[in-house]
Amino acid sequence: MKRIPLIAGNWKMYKTTTEAIEFASAIKRNLYQINPELLEIVICPAFTALSDVSEVICDSNIKLGAQDVHWEREGAFTGEVSILMLKDLNCKYVIVGHSERRTYFKETNEIINKKLKVVLKEGLSPILCVGENLEERENNMTFKVLDDHIYNGLKDISSLELVNLVIAYEPVWAIGTGKTATPQIAQEAQGYIRNLLNNLYGESISQQIRILYGGSVKPDNIRELIKQPDIDGALVGGASLILDSFVNIVKYSYDEVKNICMDY
Ligand code: PEP
Repeated sequence: MKRIPLIAGNWKMYKTTTEAIEFASAIKRNLYQINPELLEIVICPAFTALSDVSEVICDSNIKLGAQDVHWEREGAFTGEVSILMLKDLNCKYVIVGHSERRTYFKETNEIINKKLKVVLKEGLSPILCVGENLEERENNMTFKVLDDHIYNGLKDISSLELVNLVIAYEPVWAIGTGKTATPQIAQEAQGYIRNLLNNLYGESISQQIRILYGGSVKPDNIRELIKQPDIDGALVGGASLILDSFVNIVKYSYDEVKNICMDY
């Protein structure tokens, strides 16, 4: 089964609702020609803008994602947002375990595991972020960190529940720093992740799961990244906030995807 590549923009804590509506409309106008059966586009605005952005993109080839979710379906959790609320807004994707949440909000693998379960149970696609920081890379601990994030993040999740899972390999040292992992470094880590998925769920499932790369993706590096066999797209932060950059990342990816399709 062929994996459909995916480009997702994580807008983080940027853009008011007014700005988000305008930006989403511009993305829609610039990318209407992308065939979603060849390349999926996802935008993840802040919670406050989800409802309005959902309306802007409802008749388009762009899907809506959220940046986080609570692990309970509902309850007394002041300030939190539930999966049912996201589903109601037509969100299809939810970023889970982003390194900024692991670092600043002390999210553990245990919390991330609970969030993954609720997202999968409600039929949405979690984008599970994994990856090592600089110190861990310099101490040759990258594979150990990936083992930890993957095995503990996916604990007690069966292959039947996994269908919608997407993983994003995001080396923390490359996020927002302008330092991109080389395509070789990213491929090595992502091949390793696919191997872990193979150990856990077998060949056929591991071949179906999309693994994105994230970390200073820009129009000038996306082509080489997306050519790698285990890089199925990108999770884009900073560059997804600038219209030309995001549009070109999508268009260059689309060119590569169409080339690959012609090779088959
Ligand atoms: C991210 O926030 O997921 C990310 C990859 O950010 P950036 O593209 O800015 O490095």
